[in-house]
This record gives sequence, structure tokens and C-alpha cells, in this order.
Amino acid sequence: MMRAAVLRDRQFVVEELSRPVPGPGEVLVKVLACGICGSDLHFVRHAHDMVEQARKLGAPTEELERGLRTGLVLGHEFVGEIVEMGPDTARGFLPGDRVCSVPFVLRGAAPVLIGSNPETSGAYAEYMLLTEALLVKVNSGVPDAAAALTEPLGIAIHAVNKANLQATDVAVVLGCGPIGLAITAVLKSRGVRHIVATDLSPRRLELAMTMGATEVVDGRDQPGAVAKAAGHADGAGVVIFENTGAPGMLAKLVLEAPAKSRLVLSGIAPGEESFHQMVAIIKELQFSFIIYYTPEEFASALEMLAANVFDWHALVTGVVGLDGVNEAFKALEDPEVHAKILIDPQQRSGLRTLR
Ligand SMILES: [Zn+2]
Repeated sequence: MMRAAVLRDRQFVVEELSRPVPGPGEVLVKVLACGICGSDLHFVRHAHDMVEQARKLGAPTEELERGLRTGLVLGHEFVGEIVEMGPDTARGFLPGDRVCSVPFVLRGAAPVLIGSNPETSGAYAEYMLLTEALLVKVNSGVPDAAAALTEPLGIAIHAVNKANLQATDVAVVLGCGPIGLAITAVLKSRGVRHIVATDLSPRRLELAMTMGATEVVDGRDQPGAVAKAAGHADGAGVVIFENTGAPGMLAKLVLEAPAKSRLVLSGIAPGEESFHQMVAIIKELQFSFIIYYTPEEFASALEMLAANVFDWHALVTGVVGLDGVNEAFKALEDPEVHAKILIDPQQRSGLRTLR
């Protein structure tokens, strides 16, 4: 058996589930740490609206609905230790190895997202199954907390790669949650000279400075971050990373962005968005909507954490056992206190704030 935080009716309940058995090509890992993602918060709050919207768009909803009925184990930002190798594993790994993985398992032809249905339960549990072919080994010098940041940092690396950065580019980071903060760290590591970060929370702006922002702007201030960055550009390119998903933000950016700006968008607005297409055309704005990463980007995120390129400790603001997951979700509503809370499923403690 194993303990898991099962999501039912917007609440997590710790339950005893049977420990999963690895199938062909799979390994069983003991979860050492798992980050609580902004998308998990969004999912808990909006899962039922998501079903409605998917239905309107004609997308399949059965699996999600079944998951919501029977209970889901979320968790896709994890590091674990291999405890059992399934049949037909290539033995490239051994029990005792610490590993990360992109949050998918290969079942049949298609990759299946971990935590999206009861058969591929996630890392809010003592144990989980992973596909051996997707594993990345975590070297002994890398703490569990750092390795658990691989997934969100992978998204940040993907976002920055999609921006096709030029040496003189000026960057704007809108929204300094864990993704915006990680993007800031990646931009800094790539030598971007002006990184203007903006958020509504003073604490998040402080963290943005720690991650390498050269200037921070309160989101309510005028002129805003885009205008400030344009002031530094002096003919160079402006790249805007939109991580807020705030309704109306896309329309606002189309109006504010200087001509030829590149916009990389990871934030997800809850409904439909509209903007003045004529303005976007006259300015020749470029949009990249991004999700996930390539396997190479995921692996390079782990390397970046292993090399201590930036102060990743500053991002990890709390640790909690499975029994405290509801408490941690509540705490994450206040950006003044927490950025990333890690679940340690092997602990029984409530939420501990690290700084
Ligand atoms: Zn995530």
C-alpha cells in the first residue's frame, strides 16, 4: 500500500492506495519531492469549468470527468528514487538511482500525461510509475529540492529558446510566479543586459531581482514594464514573456509592444481573448505560444540546476507532507509568502516555511 493525496471535490484527502506495479518498460519510484505547480492550483479551482469548455470545443472530456469522479493524484514536478524495475527494462538504471522524468508515461503509441487520469497517478504520493526510456539520472551532488525544479525550469528554457534571442535584445518578464522567475534566471544566464520584470507583489519583485532582473516595475505603475524596456532598447529588439494569463493582457500588449517585438506566451487566460489584429500587423509582432519542452531542454534544466547557475534555493519557500497539501494550496494564494512549495511524501509534517 502507499499514501497519496487524492483530489476529490476541490479538496485533497490522504488515502491508502495500492502501490502501483511497474509494467513492461516501467520502473516504480519512491517520490522524494514534488513541486506544487500553478497549473495544479488552476486545475483544483477550475477543473469543472475546464470540462465545460472542452465540451463546447468538441474535445474529449470522458477521461477528465472519470478522474474527477474517482479522484486524481496530481503532481508532475518530481524527483524520485527507483525501487523496482519492471519487466523489459533495458537496465540502463538501477534501484537506488535518483531520477527525474518529463511528466509522461509511454503506454502504447501515445505519451500519456501523468496525473491526468487514475491509471497514471502523479507524485502527490509515496510511489509512482515512470517509463524507463524517459528517465534522466540525478547526480549525487544535486539536492532533491533542486531536482524537483527541473520541470518548471525546462518550461523557462523552452520559452527563452522560442524567443530566438539576439545579443542586444531587451527582455520584459510579465508575471513573476515560478515560471516568470525561472525565465528571468535563464535570461540572466544567457547574458541579456536589460531584464525588466513586473508583478503586483513586492515579494515576487524581490525574488525577480534575486533571479537576475535588472529592473522591477510594480504592475500598477505607469509607464509600465514594456515602456521601460522599450526605453532601453535603442533600436534593439524587445522580447516580452507573458506569464500572467490575465484577461485582456494580450490586447494590452499588442497596443504597448514596440514594432517587431516578439511575444512568448506561457500564461493561460481563462476564456477567449481578442486583440486589434491591424495593430499587430502594422507592428509585425511575432507570437509564440509555448507549452512543455523538448527532452533536451528538460535535461539541460537539470544540468543548469546541478551547476548552481542561479540561486534556486530562493524559489523554494516551503516544504510539506501529504497531510498538509490543502494547507499549502491555501498558502500559495498569497504571493507575499510563497513561491514554490515542495511536497515531501515521505514526511508527516505540516507546512514549513523556509524563509
Ligand atoms: Zn507545472
